[in-house]
Amino acid sequence: MRSKLKTYQQCEKIELAETAGFRVIYCSNCQVVELEVGALSLRLTPEMAQHFANVLMKGSLKLERLTQSGMYQKPMMEAGALH
Ligand SMILES: [Zn+2]
Repeated sequence: MRSKLKTYQQCEKIELAETAGFRVIYCSNCQVVELEVGALSLRLTPEMAQHFANVLMKGSLKLERLTQSGMYQKPMMEAGALH
């Protein structure tokens, strides 16, 4: 990707993290965080990416607690309403 189109700013993409098919890339020119999940790519502001990381962390911690206590088989009202 070395095209030198003057109308477009060159992207400066940096890979921040990669694991098991998940990739986090940051473009310092666009100030966009790209979250790659398989074929899916989410473009977020750094702030949104931070919120996303926080909510994902909260969710995964809660899921861990539920699965460890064996409570995950109990249907939850909120989750049930979504599916
Ligand atoms: Zn860019």
